[in-house]
Amino acid sequence: MRLKSALALATASIAAFAGLGVSAQAVPAAPPAAQVRSIGGETSSTGYSYSVQEYLEFTIDELDQDWSEWFRQNGYSTPIVGYVIVEPGQPFQSRCTDEGGQPLLVTHNEPNAFYCSADPVVIDGVTHYGMIILPVTTMQQMWVGNVANKRSQIPGDFAAGIVVAHEFAHHIVDELGAATGVRPTGKNNELIADCMAGVWMRAADERGLLTDTDLQEASAALVAVADPHEGGGHGTAAERLAALRLGYAGNAQYAAATPAACFAAYGR
Ligand SMILES: [Zn+2]
Repeated sequence: MRLKSALALATASIAAFAGLGVSAQAVPAAPPAAQVRSIGGETSSTGYSYSVQEYLEFTIDELDQDWSEWFRQNGYSTPIVGYVIVEPGQPFQSRCTDEGGQPLLVTHNEPNAFYCSADPVVIDGVTHYGMIILPVTTMQQMWVGNVANKRSQIPGDFAAGIVVAHEFAHHIVDELGAATGVRPTGKNNELIADCMAGVWMRAADERGLLTDTDLQEASAALVAVADPHEGGGHGTAAERLAALRLGYAGNAQYAAATPAACFAAYGR
């Protein structure tokens, strides 16, 4: 993904200051260091001018802007969700439970990303619910093709991008479900998140944020973490790819990338 707006400005000024001569829009080919931030015009030792934290924050910000705009245009109140980037030594205690029923304590390298609808976020004294939980080391490893300890065939930054979009989409589906009474069940809960991530991906693409390989990186990442067989909780590779593509490209009934297509396919 191309990092634009505030980050692109920072990148441009860093490039000019350091005399590196790199394009402000160029997306480097190696992962940014999880813990190295660029400060005061210095680039990190990896050659990145931004950190993985900045990439994740940029992506969340774009998702927030796009979904807020869509909600506004469609007469819904602005969606509000919290997020946490889990750093080493600072595990996040969620109110959700793990697969064993224990309280979910997320560490920086927990091999997954999460959305928990029970975790509170307080904004202007008002408590809202819904938290996106992104373990920073796990997210960083997605650049080089390690997607939650599964191997992606097409490594790249947008493996992380689509995972963030998927977790964000869980919250969007929650809020639309609360407003409309339509609530997906079972694996449709996951497939609709893939589909809605595809809807956002299309919006990002149309604004020039995506590179040529991002759709393949996203597809490969979802394939890597798909269920190996029918009957799993997330959908098979074919099902996850179909969901992403429905969101991204629509179908005969829904020509445009739209949440309506996702809810028609998975809203039950
Ligand atoms: Zn999910």
